[in-house]
Amino acid sequence: MKGAVVDVDGTVLRGERAVEGAREGIETLRDAGVRLVFLSNNPTVTNEDLAERLRSAGVDVGEATVLSSASLTARHVGDEYPDARVYVLGESALVESVAECVEVVEEPERATVAVVSLDRGLGYGDIRDAVEAARNADVFLSTDPDAIVPTGDGDIPGTGAVTSAVESAVGREAKTVGKPSSVAATAALDALETSPDDTLFVGDRLNTDVALGEKVGAKTALVRSGVTGEEDVDGSAHEPDEVVETLADLRHLL
Ligand SMILES: [Mg+2]
Repeated sequence: MKGAVVDVDGTVLRGERAVEGAREGIETLRDAGVRLVFLSNNPTVTNEDLAERLRSAGVDVGEATVLSSASLTARHVGDEYPDARVYVLGESALVESVAECVEVVEEPERATVAVVSLDRGLGYGDIRDAVEAARNADVFLSTDPDAIVPTGDGDIPGTGAVTSAVESAVGREAKTVGKPSSVAATAALDALETSPDDTLFVGDRLNTDVALGEKVGAKTALVRSGVTGEEDVDGSAHEPDEVVETLADLRHLL
């Protein structure tokens, strides 16, 4: 194994603290010469915010690339649609990340690309404007598919829930940029400079982290420190190669 794509929430962090065994697991991988990418579907943080959260919890980020779905989405739009005018429904980290790559517009009728995401300050007017943008734009994107996001204060509706509201009003499906899209898989492998054959994809969600690795034919590991229980694994369409309690249990793969 030369590289590992590691999920953040539920895998390395729970809230603002490190999951038990996570620091040890990351050190073990790094000591074995495995390059790391931390890849999060969280669209409310920049890469810098995410790296800072990891460091604050005592996780040694080192040379690892840290990617949030906000930055993935911003890069994707900048690469694929450099002349776009983008309407963004999302939090400031997403708006700022997109604005670094391409023009952001406030008027939904001017948008050529519509991006929808989790916004904890969401109001009816935001949904209405996002619907107008998604109806008129050439491209309709969603930062990630997560319908529910676990937080220290319980589960909250995530991007998937917001996207569904806009999709149902427009009658059009958004393309997802974060995990498990091929955009996310390619970005992670590019950052690692590894091939799927020598890369492990690890996380606590079957439909995003494990599905992402399956998409590119890589080895996958599910950690049970997050949202997925044993009963979910049995009935799932996604089959992780390994099921472990925490990242520390990955040492036998080295
Ligand atoms: Mg997770």
